[in-house]
Amino acid sequence: MKAVVVNPHAKANVEVIEKDVRPLKSGEALVDVEYCGVCHTDLHVAAGDFGDVEGRVLGHEGIGVVSQIADDVTSLKVGDRVSIAWMFHACGRCEYCTTGRETFCRNVQNAGYSVDGGMAEQCIVTADYAVKVPDGLDPAQASSITCAGVTTYKAIKVSDVKAGQWIAIYGCGGLGNLAIQYAKHVFNAKVIAVDINDDKLALAKEIGANMTINPTTDGDAEKIIQEQLGGAHAAVVTAVSKQAFNSAVDAVRACGKVTAVGLPSETMDLNIPRLVLDGIEVIGSLVGTRKDLEEAFQFGAEGKVVPVVQTRHLHEVQDVFEEMEQGKIQGRMVIDFHQH
Ligand SMILES: [Zn+2]
Ligand SMILES: [Zn+2]
Repeated sequence: MKAVVVNPHAKANVEVIEKDVRPLKSGEALVDVEYCGVCHTDLHVAAGDFGDVEGRVLGHEGIGVVSQIADDVTSLKVGDRVSIAWMFHACGRCEYCTTGRETFCRNVQNAGYSVDGGMAEQCIVTADYAVKVPDGLDPAQASSITCAGVTTYKAIKVSDVKAGQWIAIYGCGGLGNLAIQYAKHVFNAKVIAVDINDDKLALAKEIGANMTINPTTDGDAEKIIQEQLGGAHAAVVTAVSKQAFNSAVDAVRACGKVTAVGLPSETMDLNIPRLVLDGIEVIGSLVGTRKDLEEAFQFGAEGKVVPVVQTRHLHEVQDVFEEMEQGKIQGRMVIDFHQH
């Protein structure tokens, strides 16, 4: 089979190679991959930012159809469409796994990083950890929900925003535009979209944002939100910028919650009197559990959330990585494994 693997000596740190698939072990299933999205996390893995994983098959936004199962597998059958997600496998026994917080398992395995992922014609999954894709959901769109969708759905869940309340979404790109759709169409919240790019704000408005703010032209988002709304009830920050995190803390009202999703390698300012006197909460949110992904898929299947994706051929994968590195990409790029 053809597979996209990490190679620090190749263009964009990736190359397509021929690779054999090993026989299945107990509990495993073989998936014939249809689509796999390319994510910024893949660029970090390929560049060795999380350690050297030369030869690793990339991809944690895989969608495919089960073609073979080990004898003891009961959770999947041949023909099922399933996902290959970042949360690939967890221990199932620890304090996190047994309390609905499996993404924080200390022994978690991540597809396309600690184990071979979904950017290949075939991928071996742990059957119990592969989440089924519901009928009626386009598999290329499902690929985007496997990472960006579940991450933002979970973040809004974590933010505790209620129907009719205001939520500020900082950063309206690949993650943010899905965050807006989940907040608006699933949680029935009112959305303030904040971004420094007018094109992204125009899209935000189109998909349902009630209010948009461009801090570079409109003024500080936190001031506008406090003056006009008395503060947001919650904020989710997908922007990779310290300024956005600081603004979010000042944009929420008393007892508001700020949920961090973006990963700038910086430190945010946290004014302690603000935290204590106004009872502000700041919390991180990491991808989502299998149950979260199942729910995120279902809302996609119901048409409440529509990811914007563009399919590309496998032979273009190095170009896709380069374009992404250079920030040339709008929406999500998904490798189509039907075509070489
Ligand atoms: Zn991803
Ligand atoms: Zn565990």
